[in-house]
Amino acid sequence: MKLATGTTLITHGQLIDGTGLAAVPDAALVIENGRIRYAGPAAQAPAVPPDAQRLDARGGTILPGLVEAHFHATYFNIAALEDLDIKYPVEYVSLLASVNSRLLVECGYTAARSGGCLFNVDVWLKKAIEEDLIPGPRLATSGREICSAGGLMDWNPEFRKIGMEGLVFIINGQEEARRAVRSLVKDGIEWVKTYPTGDAASPDLNDHHTLCMTFEEMHAVVATAHNHKLKVTGHCRATEGIKNALRAGYDTLEHGTFMDDEALDLLLARDVPVVPALYFEKASILRGPEFGLPQVVIDGHQETLEGGAESARRILRAGGRLGMGGDYGFGWNPHGDYARELTFFVKDVGLTPLEVIKCATKTGAEIMGRGAEFGTLEAGKLADVLVVDGNPLADIAVLEDRAKFIAVMQGGVIKAGQLAKAFPTVVTKEKK
Ligand SMILES: [Zn+2]
Repeated sequence: MKLATGTTLITHGQLIDGTGLAAVPDAALVIENGRIRYAGPAAQAPAVPPDAQRLDARGGTILPGLVEAHFHATYFNIAALEDLDIKYPVEYVSLLASVNSRLLVECGYTAARSGGCLFNVDVWLKKAIEEDLIPGPRLATSGREICSAGGLMDWNPEFRKIGMEGLVFIINGQEEARRAVRSLVKDGIEWVKTYPTGDAASPDLNDHHTLCMTFEEMHAVVATAHNHKLKVTGHCRATEGIKNALRAGYDTLEHGTFMDDEALDLLLARDVPVVPALYFEKASILRGPEFGLPQVVIDGHQETLEGGAESARRILRAGGRLGMGGDYGFGWNPHGDYARELTFFVKDVGLTPLEVIKCATKTGAEIMGRGAEFGTLEAGKLADVLVVDGNPLADIAVLEDRAKFIAVMQGGVIKAGQLAKAFPTVVTKEKK
């Protein structure tokens, strides 16, 4: 991904740097050749050359580009899970993923960690983004997911003889777990996504208190993945599944829904980040009836919502780390609504806006293993910046309103927002 050349000075706004520190009023951000040179009070900003680009934050806010920590580029606002493995061929899924990637940037998200993808789309999507062929987030890729036979993702009845080649490896035992990871190694992915537990979406056979993989299978996944420098995460709702994942050496947990004291201790001992992806539960409750979700499923989502909110509060209060990601790409939780997760965590879970912004920036970059490169507005880091005409500390929901985005920048290049077309020189310059 190209960096801007020259100098850009952003002023007339408060600065939230993403570290969790209080906002700096009347701040300045100086960007030089795509990297942050200075972030702090305007009064102490270094002098910039006369030909520097000047960007007026209009009394709004300068903050790091957001990081979506559980992104499904290949999910196409599906109304039924079954659509994922039979509705579209890889060709169309790839095009949809490209559209979703651009939308993510337009929504103020400059980076994303994938929570699993169809076929091997992520790896090639990332290549197209990195080569500036299409706009999209700095991406940490995932691939086909791993679930044991009879588990949450193994929904096709045997008589249909339908495989799951594009969606998930259905495994039996440690040998097949290792085989699946080795295929993913060859695919070139970074994150292995697994299904240690079930979900409220599958109340009959694999509900949210059910295990879908054995500890031995999970451990085989981790050992093989770590040997090849891949990271492992998993869909973890049931308490025992969370503990299995932590003991097996998982690098992050998705959801981390039902945590007891022992699970929390295991989590904190290794400082494993959790991505609750919790607004999905509320969306399922609010809009489930309109999509025909059965009452037993909606009741399960209510239990998951309450358990997940309590666990998220406990993790953060105990000094643990949360990433903000939302599992967007379902009919009732569509692409484009990404920042609803942030509003939800302030209004329903009870975190402060500053805490939520830190989770959605600094922690997101740390989950990607790139905390030294971006995620906060500090000297030396990539200028991945969101400039908003509003104050998210007073109303976090301003981050849901794309019309209020003045600029979304990656490496100092304005990719979206109102000024995206007003600054063509930045892109033109760097092509020299
Ligand atoms: Zn997901």
